[in-house]
Amino acid sequence: MLRVSSLVKTYDGGVQAVRGIDFEVAEGEFYTLLGPSGCGKTTTLRCVAGLEKPDQGEISIGNDKVFSSEGNTSMPSHKRDIGMVFQSYAIWPHMTVFNNVAFPLRHSKRKVSKSNLRDRVMKALSLVQLDALADRPAPFLSGGQQQRVALARALIYEPRVLLLDEPLSNLDAKLRDEMRVELKQLVNRLHITSLYVTHDQAEALALSDRVAVMNQGTIIQEGRPREIYLQPRDTFTANFIGKTNLFEGKVVDGAQAEGMGLVETPVGRLICRLPNGAQKGDNVQIVIRPEGVDIFQGNPDNKINVVEGNVIFATFQGDSVEYQVRVGDYLCLVKSDSLHEFAKERKVSLHFTPERCLVIPKTKNSVIESNQGGLL
Ligand code: ATP
Repeated sequence: MLRVSSLVKTYDGGVQAVRGIDFEVAEGEFYTLLGPSGCGKTTTLRCVAGLEKPDQGEISIGNDKVFSSEGNTSMPSHKRDIGMVFQSYAIWPHMTVFNNVAFPLRHSKRKVSKSNLRDRVMKALSLVQLDALADRPAPFLSGGQQQRVALARALIYEPRVLLLDEPLSNLDAKLRDEMRVELKQLVNRLHITSLYVTHDQAEALALSDRVAVMNQGTIIQEGRPREIYLQPRDTFTANFIGKTNLFEGKVVDGAQAEGMGLVETPVGRLICRLPNGAQKGDNVQIVIRPEGVDIFQGNPDNKINVVEGNVIFATFQGDSVEYQVRVGDYLCLVKSDSLHEFAKERKVSLHFTPERCLVIPKTKNSVIESNQGGLL
């Protein structure tokens, strides 16, 4: 188990990289810090690793308080019982795969017998399915294999916590997808407590048990991947986690079916899911994922949440087609299966699935980014 409380880190020069964050990673859990470049993810990870000294806060690994500003405790990195994997594989080019993985054991203060060392290295290599390549010089490996060597080296001590900083970002797209699955299977199998850092939302959603979305040194929202994607609490999270339609609106009737209400929006009145406590007259924002909108031609039987528009752009993506549809002055993003295709300029109807129209309170940080659906 890993617990981080009230962590603050300001670098020389006054950059407030981490501004008081709290989180807990349960035994065997895969927890991800996700956020844009510069939001403080790596700094947090480095504080946990003992590579940066926080200004304030507490960090515990298992029952050990490895850092406490109040208690004036700071356990050195090598005693924290952690394994680390970085974006750059940081493997030694002049050594074989075996020797790269053996390196930490050979240079450890704890003496390890030759046969024990061999057993442990081969066990770590078999975990990442590289035992057959133990004698190969490390440079003669693919990028994915080199990253697996780095992983085996991090696992050699059977650490209590595995720290991973964008470990897949140097791999090409296909390999990254494959390694994602392998990594997930491996950490599940080993039931190892993992703290992962990435700016790639797809990676975070695919790998994690829970995700913390960070911005400007704070955690904005924490939850299971489904919650983060389907119930973003503000526009920052909605925008950052995938594409979205974002409209301004005003609640005109909060008394529809349970949890649902009628909201005036620039594309018409829509039945939406309301947050607790929303009232008639509230100014709100509506988040609708592109796959929450159906596109079709002709007149629907039911006109609820249906608006008309014109296709202005269609992008074929193999398994789906992404449309940009103009509705009045607004651009709606729609993701549809690739079976039908609606040509440019075609008049179409859009159905906004009420359960997928999520109302969030309006905040001063609300932003509508240009690559998202919204005002043209
Ligand atoms: P990225 O995804 O680009 O790695 P990040 O979310 O991991 O970003 P950090 O590397 O933690 O962000 O950086 C947080 C802030 O602290 C940034 O503004 C960065 O410029 C600053 N920073 C990081 N390291 C240092 C340092 N050694 N000295 C001064 N400022 C630093």
